[in-house]
Amino acid sequence: MFHQDHFAWPLTRLRRTAGAQLAIDQTDAFPEPINAGLVTLAGDSPIQLVGMMTSVGEGVLVDASVEATAQAQCSRCLTSFELPLAASIQELFVYPERRPLEDSDSDEDINLIEGDQLRLDDLVRDAIVLEMPLIPLCRPDCAGLCPICGVNLNDHPDHQHSDTVDARWLGLAQWGKLS
Ligand SMILES: [Zn+2]
Ligand SMILES: [Zn+2]
Repeated sequence: MFHQDHFAWPLTRLRRTAGAQLAIDQTDAFPEPINAGLVTLAGDSPIQLVGMMTSVGEGVLVDASVEATAQAQCSRCLTSFELPLAASIQELFVYPERRPLEDSDSDEDINLIEGDQLRLDDLVRDAIVLEMPLIPLCRPDCAGLCPICGVNLNDHPDHQHSDTVDARWLGLAQWGKLS
C-alpha cells in the first residue's frame, strides 16, 4: 500500500553528536479524519507540530507539541462546538543498529529510525486521539437539555415545567373534590 508521510523529518541536518539539536516546526494535515466518539478532527484540518529533536547516544529524542482544532458534540446538550486540542509527544527513536535485542517482546514500543527519517505520523495521530475527551462538554457547567421537552437549558436558564404540571394536578385534584 502506498503510504505518504505527512510528518516526517530527515535526519541529514542533525549531527549524531549527543546533544545536537534541530528544531521541528511544521503544519500539515491528514487527508482522512480522526474520530473518537463525539469528537472528530476533520480530514485536511491543519495540525501544528512544534518542538525539538535531540541526538542522544542510541538515537534521537523527539519532544514536540501537537495542536489542532477538532469538532465535538457536547455530551449533555448535543450542540456542536470547536474543541482545541493540545497534545505532546516525547519519544525516543532508535537507530536500527542500536536496537536492543535482548527484549524482543517490547519491539512494538520501539520507534525505529527508518531510512534516516523520523516518521511521526502515527505518533501525531495517537497523541491527538488521546487528547479527545470521551465525554466532551461545550463548557464545564453545561446545563444540558430539559429531560421533559428537550429544550437547551443553556439558552433558557429559567426554563421549568413544575408550574404547569402543578397547575394541572391542582386542577385534577379540585375536580376530584367537586365530583
Ligand atoms: Zn453543552
Ligand atoms: Zn422542558
